Amino acid sequence: MTGDPILEVRDLCVDYGLGADGVRAVTDASMVLRRGEVLGLAGESGSGKSTLAYAITRLLRAPGVITGGDVRFTGRDVSLDLLAAGPAELRRVRWSQISVVFQSAMHALNPVARIDAQLTDALRAHRREMTAEQRRQRAIELLDLVGISEDRLRSYPHELSGGMRQRVMIAMALVLDPEVVIMDEPTTALDVVTQREILNELMLLKDRLGFAVVFITHDLSLLIELADTIAIMYAGRILEHGPARELFRGPRHPYTLGLLNSFPALHGERVRMEGIPGAPPSLTALPTGCSFHPRCPYALDRCHEEFPPTAALAGDSAGRLAACWLHADGNDLPAPLARPTGSAL
Ligand code: SF4
Repeated sequence: MTGDPILEVRDLCVDYGLGADGVRAVTDASMVLRRGEVLGLAGESGSGKSTLAYAITRLLRAPGVITGGDVRFTGRDVSLDLLAAGPAELRRVRWSQISVVFQSAMHALNPVARIDAQLTDALRAHRREMTAEQRRQRAIELLDLVGISEDRLRSYPHELSGGMRQRVMIAMALVLDPEVVIMDEPTTALDVVTQREILNELMLLKDRLGFAVVFITHDLSLLIELADTIAIMYAGRILEHGPARELFRGPRHPYTLGLLNSFPALHGERVRMEGIPGAPPSLTALPTGCSFHPRCPYALDRCHEEFPPTAALAGDSAGRLAACWLHADGNDLPAPLARPTGSAL
């Protein structure tokens, strides 16, 4: 753990629609982001990770509705319940203290505005004391920060490559020196070489500027390298949460184990790729009991009836949590879920 909590999410619930037509998209999600840390949110498409992130930042659009929970942001000079905050308080925090890098730069950037106008937009709104020349200099500085030369300042988005557009998005997120940056699959649409370059630069910027990151991806292998802690989501719930290293060395939830067995090993002996049979359930027709039970090779009778509570793991000093009946008293853990942890990656 690298610092004090900066973002604390407790029992957050999000529905799409209300009443009989409502569908629960996120159920009782709890997690803590610490200063300077990267918290990874992983899971298959439709698991609720983006919904969770948009709910945290109050960027969720109708018919999305937050139906329960707390989100506390404790910044340099403000401590705020984000779910109770009014428009003025949210405006103070957004972008200047919590910013977001969206998934598709091509869609997030305004196609008819030049890069300099888009970069200086937030400065015009939040730093009214700055002159036009100061804003221009800040835009140049930001482009330089993300490895783009000054002569791109007057370009339109379509004149840039996909990697450059995503870099511009990152520069825009950093324009007001935020303390938390939420990144929703920021490099998914890019080729692996560009993706790797951008992520390496991003981690250097994080260390240099000191912001914390919530990094959302379906690619757990990426998070193993980037994140300090990881939360694994499935069907709207966090099923396992803990330090990235421990989670990689010894997953304690069958779904995490399945995800880890779905990609080739980067280090060590993990060689057999197995994948996870079946597909994630529709949120409108969740299985009874543990929503992972139709795909789980270790399902018990009880798993078909009751959803397991999220609980600390017995004998675990790393603070890991898992929601699985296998960890209830009296059950022997299957060998793949009982591996010792603690060795270096
Ligand atoms: Fe599998 Fe049961 Fe654990 Fe769910 S609660 S992951 S079905 S063993």
